[in-house]
Amino acid sequence: MKILIASDMEGITGVTNWDQVTPGHPEYARFRKLMTGDVNAAVRGALNAGANEVIVADGHWNGSNILIEELDPRARLNSGSPSPFSMMQGINQNVDGVFFIGYHARQGSQGAVLDHTWSNTCVANVWLNDLIAGEYTLNAALAGHFNIPVLMISGDQTVCAQAFQQLGDLEIAIVKEATGHFSAECLPPDITGKMIQVAAQRALKRVKGKNTPKPFVLKTPINVTVELNSSDMADKAMSMPGVTRDGLKLTFSAEDMPKAYSAFRALVLMSYPR
Ligand SMILES: [Zn+2]
Repeated sequence: MKILIASDMEGITGVTNWDQVTPGHPEYARFRKLMTGDVNAAVRGALNAGANEVIVADGHWNGSNILIEELDPRARLNSGSPSPFSMMQGINQNVDGVFFIGYHARQGSQGAVLDHTWSNTCVANVWLNDLIAGEYTLNAALAGHFNIPVLMISGDQTVCAQAFQQLGDLEIAIVKEATGHFSAECLPPDITGKMIQVAAQRALKRVKGKNTPKPFVLKTPINVTVELNSSDMADKAMSMPGVTRDGLKLTFSAEDMPKAYSAFRALVLMSYPR
């Protein structure tokens, strides 16, 4: 059994503001360590419960947050950016299930630490086939293309609820109760590490018992709509071939989820203000 741990940073133990997850800020070093701790707890849980192989994708910012020198030596790490599958690097390597560790709610969520969707600078909303999407939706749909289920998620209570609602009854580890965009009641790492490990073990048991959530498979072709934050961003991104525009909303169609994911990433990159 092979598990992909797709990690992000905003939903890591203790994180409540951007300074803590921004390279260059003095606080960032502490939270890289905490991110590595949350990921290690998931690695332990997976391997204790029968996984033979764990690949980790470092999905925040430039993809070099996890401290490899502190990573469980039984795991392998996809680090750096850009990579072909970004936050899901490794998904095409015969994986049996995915864990989302350190995830955050979609843009515009109430009671959600650092809620955003892909880029808080550029992106207001994303829809996949008219379904409002967070990063967990985009990434689960990419896994769904390979017929791989998402087995668990860790983060605040709001991202766990959103994922549960969209993706099915996956295992959850709520490491903080968000009270706002920049506030939460946080559990310390000694506690969250145990919670994440136990949730990972439960997830693996369900793989063995063949009662995991179903892979999140979207109907193809996939219709992607991205609402950007301002007209100058929409002006830039609308020059992408195949895109139609309605105000701040850009829409395109893609034949499958890997193509939709690539085009979405390209569109967001194009929209950045310079
Ligand atoms: Zn992030």
